[in-house]
Amino acid sequence: MGKVTGFMEYERLEEGYEPVQARLKNYKEFVIGLTDEQAKIQGARCMDCGTPFCNSGCPVNNIIPDFNDLVYRQDWKNAITVLHSTNNFPEFTGRICPAPCEAACTLNVNDEPVGIKSIEHAIIDRAWDNGWVLPQPAAHKTGKTVAVVGSGPAGLAAAQQLARAGHDVTVFEKNDRVGGLLRYGIPDFKMEKSHIDRRVEQMKAEGVTFRTGVIVGALPEGSKVTSWAQESISPEQLKQQFDAVLLAGGAEQSRDLPVPGRDLAGVHFAMEFLPQQNKVNGGDKLPEQIKATGKHVIVIGGGDTGSDCVGTSNRHGAASVTQFELMPMPPEEENRPLTWPYWPYKLRTSSSHEEGCQREFAIATKEFIGEGGKVTGLKTVRVEWKDGKMAEVPGSEQVMKADLVLLAMGFVSPVATILDAFGVDKDGRGNARASTDFTGGYQTNVEKVFAAGDMRRGQSLVVWAIREGRQAARAIDEYLMGYSELPR
Ligand SMILES: Cc1cc2nc3c(=O)[nH]c(=O)nc-3n(C[C@H](O)[C@H](O)[C@H](O)COP(=O)(O)OP(=O)(O)OC[C@H]3O[C@@H](n4cnc5c(N)ncnc54)[C@H](O)[C@@H]3O)c2cc1C
Ligand code: SF4
Repeated sequence: MGKVTGFMEYERLEEGYEPVQARLKNYKEFVIGLTDEQAKIQGARCMDCGTPFCNSGCPVNNIIPDFNDLVYRQDWKNAITVLHSTNNFPEFTGRICPAPCEAACTLNVNDEPVGIKSIEHAIIDRAWDNGWVLPQPAAHKTGKTVAVVGSGPAGLAAAQQLARAGHDVTVFEKNDRVGGLLRYGIPDFKMEKSHIDRRVEQMKAEGVTFRTGVIVGALPEGSKVTSWAQESISPEQLKQQFDAVLLAGGAEQSRDLPVPGRDLAGVHFAMEFLPQQNKVNGGDKLPEQIKATGKHVIVIGGGDTGSDCVGTSNRHGAASVTQFELMPMPPEEENRPLTWPYWPYKLRTSSSHEEGCQREFAIATKEFIGEGGKVTGLKTVRVEWKDGKMAEVPGSEQVMKADLVLLAMGFVSPVATILDAFGVDKDGRGNARASTDFTGGYQTNVEKVFAAGDMRRGQSLVVWAIREGRQAARAIDEYLMGYSELPR
């Protein structure tokens, strides 16, 4: 523990943001990381708890008290070694993780938690700047081959771990660039894509082969799921060519809103809108782009994907942006004695909300209204919740103006045709059925086929995908070799 009295002397320091008007002009990251001195003070606040709840609150079980102490001592090189021992990609989580570790921090009981995420961000950025993040090729090759389907955080974490264990790993990705939702989904202003490119170079140097634009199996006819595949490979071919296969294809089936008027032009899934802007930011020219410029935008869905649509619409120059949420407005402050150390139920205001957004709670959409085939508004109704049941408020119907509607109501499941083509059993929610047991975990009912990330657990977080990728890699290594030294 760095400074015994640190938690009493110092207050939590937040990372800074560029001013709204400046950041709305582009798609660049706008978070101003902590200076070395600020990070040191933040590290000094850590109490090195006997039971570090932060560590169990973190899905990859980052060894948080240790790196807090090392940062307090300004021993950055050992801090990155500790951080990398549990997390392959801290530059992703240090930017976009909602930080359940901070919710679990003991200081959060009656004070402000340690700024763990800002410390993680500072450690990994410093490590890259100093050239400390280097390829770690395996000392010995095993001669075994593994195919990873999907290059999101689950697929990437698994591929890196498996390559470091000496296996020949090939990652298949149907999109034209590597990264999954990190690349096509999460806006560049939350995470610039150069962070993925750097890791891909590291992984190539560790022996991982990437095959982009290749779909394994096929999407259903007319599917709106993102795909820039130029070629396909069948599950049978994959199983013949590789000793093991990991399905890490995400949960890409967006939840739809099948009310009258759904077919009107101007009503789109968030996942049609957001990837297009990622592509343009990546230097591509699109024949047509869904733009919010000068439009009244309504985003349906109050979660993170919706918030990303808000931020992107404001950068396009929307006339107005409104976000709908079916549930009532949560309390501004959580009930800490009730929720700690778990993820609290409270109102969350993102940086995108701060850039300009009207937020409507307890509201449902009954119909999309249009003229000449184009959406012009929404017929809405207020709702109230009693005993977990939703009821419409009589007489509260209203028409709200909209020229662009973005559906951001989450994802129902992975694409069923992909799992079906492998013959993989699904759970009740349509995810690949596989346990997380220590022995035999991540293995599906199909011989040599494993599943991890959103494809196994349903829509989740980047940090959970990294955890599952790492654990699935260990399970595959054990399956191929009879034992594994990879960490779980
Ligand atoms: C808009 C948006 C914003 C988000 N923001 C955050 C955030 O701020 N913080 C956070 O922690 N989480 C966030 N999430 C959730 C997070 O991105 C996901 O939980 C995480 O990316 C899941 O990782 P994954 O590797 O399991 O799948 P994905 O990232 O979905 O990657 C799956 C990949 O598999 C590919 N694929 C699928 N099927 C095939 C096939 N048959 N053949 C070849 N390739 C295939 C897909 O093209 C895709 O690239 C966000 C999600 C969205 C949609
Ligand atoms: S719970 Fe908070 S104070 Fe305790 S060890 Fe973890 S980061 Fe430090």
